[in-house]
Amino acid sequence: MRLADQAAVRAAAAAGPVVALFVLDDHRPAVASAPEPWRQGWAMGAAQRWWLHHALASLDADLRKRGGRLVLRRGRSTEIVPAIAADVGAEAVHCLGHIEPWARDDEEAVAARVKLEIHEGVLLVRPESVRTGTGGRYRIFTPWWRRMREQMPPARPAPAPAKMDFVADVTSDRLEDLKLLPTNPDWSGGFTVWQPGEAGAAARLEDFAGRAAAYDEARNMPSVEGTSRLSPHLAMGDISVATIWHAIADAVPVSAEPYLRELGWRDFAANILDLFPDHGEVPGREVFSKLAFLDDPEGLRAWQQGRTGYPIVDAGMRQLWAIGWMHNRVRMITASFLCKHLLIDWRHGERWFWDCLVDADLASNSLGWQWVMGSGVDSSPFNRVFAPVGQSAKFDAAAYIREWVPELRHVSESRIHAPWESGGVKGYPPPIIRHEAARARALEAYAAAR
Ligand SMILES: Cc1cc2nc3c(=O)[nH]c(=O)nc-3n(C[C@H](O)[C@H](O)[C@H](O)COP(=O)(O)OP(=O)(O)OC[C@H]3O[C@@H](n4cnc5c(N)ncnc54)[C@H](O)[C@@H]3O)c2cc1C
Repeated sequence: MRLADQAAVRAAAAAGPVVALFVLDDHRPAVASAPEPWRQGWAMGAAQRWWLHHALASLDADLRKRGGRLVLRRGRSTEIVPAIAADVGAEAVHCLGHIEPWARDDEEAVAARVKLEIHEGVLLVRPESVRTGTGGRYRIFTPWWRRMREQMPPARPAPAPAKMDFVADVTSDRLEDLKLLPTNPDWSGGFTVWQPGEAGAAARLEDFAGRAAAYDEARNMPSVEGTSRLSPHLAMGDISVATIWHAIADAVPVSAEPYLRELGWRDFAANILDLFPDHGEVPGREVFSKLAFLDDPEGLRAWQQGRTGYPIVDAGMRQLWAIGWMHNRVRMITASFLCKHLLIDWRHGERWFWDCLVDADLASNSLGWQWVMGSGVDSSPFNRVFAPVGQSAKFDAAAYIREWVPELRHVSESRIHAPWESGGVKGYPPPIIRHEAARARALEAYAAAR
């Protein structure tokens, strides 16, 4: 979704006239090892489709400024890409390489029919390039980061090509025909906080660079805008991760490390997905396949709708619904609440996030859920059950709760984290389950699985 620091665009533009093609392809099957009922695959979720619509419009506008346009199609990329390449007599097809299993399969299928040039640019490093002293792969973040850091900084970002020529006369679907926007109802009213596309990403980066010195102190506080909120731009490719790396390292040379390390987590997630392509569907540790989760549709619905009676959980789930994004600290609290307090299978939560997040990313989402669950290869231990009340007070979430749970807008600082302890608040539900009882139940289920 960008022209700057985009090696495929650069290579294609240098080689001759181009067709800038986007294919909306919902064929993203689960891997063969995915168990029932988790085999439905990973077609792009609804929130991200909203983002995609606007990012495509922005990219098309940028191409038109250069005398071209974006060609849109819908269907199987493995058929459409070779067919258009044949029609226009293309010498080569250029793309950025992706690590999702379906993307790899499609790249292979296209490469069997046309000359396919796969360029780097989605990640900071190639996952398979980070190796232990004996040539193995890392499964734990810190040693991986230490080794990966040796390859940093990445190359300085390259500007968009100064000149591009275009192949005329390739027909395109209309953007509206892709039907990416929600209708009936249109739930995207709150999404106007975002500006999808390359210009929006650049503006957000510039704004964050001015605040980056405070990142380490502010990043865990949901009540303040302490993080960059660049994740949806990264997920969609509106901006390159190398561009972000250099902008922050230049803006705050002394204090950039905590932020650069978070960018490292994104690459680490890709490393884990590369090692375990079924990480979205299969727990990293065997014992979790035996855990007796509860079948509790009502609990799941209360969690999805932000009606659990725990203010920090409800604020997070409503923020997610309203703007398609949730603060990282609150992602951990809400995820832990679902799979430990409610003892509902983490994959239900992973799916809900997938549909609701504008930054949905298979590698980061599955890593986040498996980390919280305790089932991943590099995880928090299972008996770490986030205490929603303690976390809410510790990270000073009162203003955040007031913003997203209007029923609690007038509740005092001292009551807002656990309103039921002082008689409850009219119109706001009591807690769906008590913390101690929930914790004991989760630990028991884990002990039984073991
Ligand atoms: C249960 C759960 C699910 C998650 N699902 C996703 C997801 O689908 N997509 C996604 O991009 N992130 C996901 N994350 C990671 C993290 O919450 C978001 O990347 C972060 O909140 C994005 O906000 P930001 O851009 O302001 O982050 P910043 O704090 O500004 O960090 C900068 C960038 O670093 C990367 N990053 C930061 N933390 C992480 C992390 N823990 N794992 C991987 N990358 C990270 C992101 O690309 C982010 O944009 C998930 C975390 C959890 C606990």
